[in-house]
Amino acid sequence: MSADTAAAYRYIDVGVNLTDPVFRGTYHGKKKHDDDMNSMLERARNAGVKSMIITGTSLQESGHALRLAQELGFFCTIGCHPTRAAEFDRFKGGPDAYLLALDKLIANSLHGKGRAVAIGECGLDYDRLHFATPEVQQKHFRSQLSLAKKYHLPLFLHSRAAHADFVKILREEGFGVDGGIAVGGKGGVVHSFTGSPEEVAELIDMGFYISVNGCSLKTEENLQTAKAIRSDRLLLETDAPWCSMTGGHASKQYLASLSPSLKELYFPPSTKPENFALGKPVKGRNEPSAVGGVAWVIHKLHDIPLETLTETAFKNTIDLFGLDLDEDNI
Ligand SMILES: [Zn+2]
Repeated sequence: MSADTAAAYRYIDVGVNLTDPVFRGTYHGKKKHDDDMNSMLERARNAGVKSMIITGTSLQESGHALRLAQELGFFCTIGCHPTRAAEFDRFKGGPDAYLLALDKLIANSLHGKGRAVAIGECGLDYDRLHFATPEVQQKHFRSQLSLAKKYHLPLFLHSRAAHADFVKILREEGFGVDGGIAVGGKGGVVHSFTGSPEEVAELIDMGFYISVNGCSLKTEENLQTAKAIRSDRLLLETDAPWCSMTGGHASKQYLASLSPSLKELYFPPSTKPENFALGKPVKGRNEPSAVGGVAWVIHKLHDIPLETLTETAFKNTIDLFGLDLDEDNI
């Protein structure tokens, strides 16, 4: 087996939105092709993806993520995304009832196949205030932090254009030191990171990990930030079906040196949805197999061997989420 086969590099994609209907062939409510979830998962396995953490983005979606994780033998997160934060207030019974429903879902999914390994995704997104105002987002971000304390679970965090308020709330709730261990917390990861090197330093200093995907490697500034993430605090994800690495991104210059055999595994030739062929990826829809491409760019930026980078990220993932290689069938 050559060094470039999938077996040489292993991954856990810590952020995948497998509940998205595009993996069943439906785009914006319109059926465009057959369900190809299984062939997509096969491509991921071929690319060395040993497991995934399916992101929960609302009460309903978290339930869906949990069922899918149980069915597929992966993991999930349970929580409410900042752009969905208004759901707390609209919920029958109000915000307390919504939080209680999340609480119950977590309580029932702490063990066994498909279990919840993090609270989230939660946080602040000031790029998309049309879904929820800063006040609404802050209130329900804060309330979800209580779940991380109660269940001693890591946080799966989202922060966009909101760093100052984001760290202020984390600090006020006891997550400013050692990831909140003193208040019952267990740290966490700020996913899909697009902030500055200074923000990376502050978050790492608070005890958090940083996860990167194609969106974290779009611009030259992004690449400088990615370079600044210490590898012992780095996690890898795709955020599939979002955040594909495309030709216009700054990451392209590094992907150019990807060997043909790895390129075939991480970015198999795709077709447009209208020319769909079962077994081939769909253009524009990101997939977990591409996590290897993210790792490739980072290992170039850090100037360390790909195996060192991937094994470090793998170990970081096991450590943060408390996974067990044997028991969890990874
Ligand atoms: Zn996110």
